[in-house]
Amino acid sequence: MTDLTLPTYADVEAAAARLAGVAHRTPVLRSRQADEALGAQLFFKCENFQRMGAFKFRGGFNALSRFTPEQRRQGAIAFSSGNHAQAIALSARDLGMPAVIVMPADAPAAKLAATRGYGAEVITYDRYTEDRDAITRRLAQERGMTLIPPFDHADVISGQGTAAKELIDEVGPLDVLLVCLGGGGLLSGSALAARALSPQCRVYGVEPEAGNDGQQSLRAGQVVHIAPPRTIADGAQTQHLGQLTFAIIQREVSDILTVTDAQLVEGMRFYAERMKMVVEPTGALSLAGARHGGLDLRGARVGLIVSGGNVDLAQYARLLSEGPGA
Ligand SMILES: *Cc1c(COP(=O)(O)O)cnc(C)c1O
Repeated sequence: MTDLTLPTYADVEAAAARLAGVAHRTPVLRSRQADEALGAQLFFKCENFQRMGAFKFRGGFNALSRFTPEQRRQGAIAFSSGNHAQAIALSARDLGMPAVIVMPADAPAAKLAATRGYGAEVITYDRYTEDRDAITRRLAQERGMTLIPPFDHADVISGQGTAAKELIDEVGPLDVLLVCLGGGGLLSGSALAARALSPQCRVYGVEPEAGNDGQQSLRAGQVVHIAPPRTIADGAQTQHLGQLTFAIIQREVSDILTVTDAQLVEGMRFYAERMKMVVEPTGALSLAGARHGGLDLRGARVGLIVSGGNVDLAQYARLLSEGPGA
C-alpha cells in the first residue's frame, strides 16, 4: 500500500498566507428568504466572485507557488477542459512561469479562448482517438514541466480549504457546512478547515444523483469508479475520488447527499432572482443539498460554498427559461 501523507489544517493556514493579497477574499452573503424557507441561518461563501470565477484559483496558485526555482523555470502542465485549466493558466501568469494546458479539441471555444487569454499554451487532442494521460505525461517529460492534477494533490487540497477557513473566520462556528463534490479537493480541504475552526460542525458533500460515486465510495469504504455521468453539473462529472481526498473525506465528512439536475436549476434560478448572481450548475449543489438533501436544518447555522459562476451564457439562459418551475 502506498503511504499517503495527508495535508492538515496547518497546510490550509500556510496556503492562506500564500494567497493573501493574491486571491480575492470573497463575500459571504445572506438571504432572508432562504433563511425563512429553511428555518435556518444560511451563510453563502461566494466563490463565483473569485478570480477566474471559481475557487480553483486557490488550489492552483497554492500548488504553483510552492515550486522550486527549477520547477518555475520549466513551468506547470495540467489537463482540464474546465475551471482547473483556467486556474493553472492564471496562477502561472501571476507567478511568471510557462503553462501548458491539454484540452479536448472539441472543448467549448470560449473555454479554449479564456485559457489562452491567460497566457497558457493550449495543446488539443482528439477525445475519441487519443489518450489524454499519455499525451500529458509525454509533454511533461519532454519539457520538464510539473503536472498539477485537479484535486488529488496535497497543495491543491490545502488551497481549496482556504475558502471555508475564510468563511468560518468571518461568521464564527457553524453547525453544518455543505460543499459540492467532484473529485473532492474542495470538500476535503473544507473539512480540514471546519474540523480545526468549528469542531462540532457536521460537513456534508453534495453531488449530482447521476454521478454519486462519492456517496457509493463512502458506503463501500473504498474509492468506487463510475462511467462518465450525465449531468449539467460539469464540474462534478468526475468518475472517482482521489486517494488523498477520499482518505480525508472518510475521516472527516458526515455524509454525502445527492440532488437532481432539476434541483440544481431551481437553485440557479434562486441565485439569479433573489441574490442577483450567476452561479454555474455545479455551484448550485450546496444550496440544492440544503433544500433537498433530507437534513433537518431548523435552527442551525449553515455554511454553503457557492463554488463557481462559469457557465456559457446561452446554456444559462436556456436552463433558466426552460427548466422546471419556469
Ligand atoms: C472543480 C469544481 C467543483 C468540484 O471540485 P472538486 O475539488 O473536484 O470536488 C465544484 N464546483 C466548481 C465550480 C468546480 O470548478
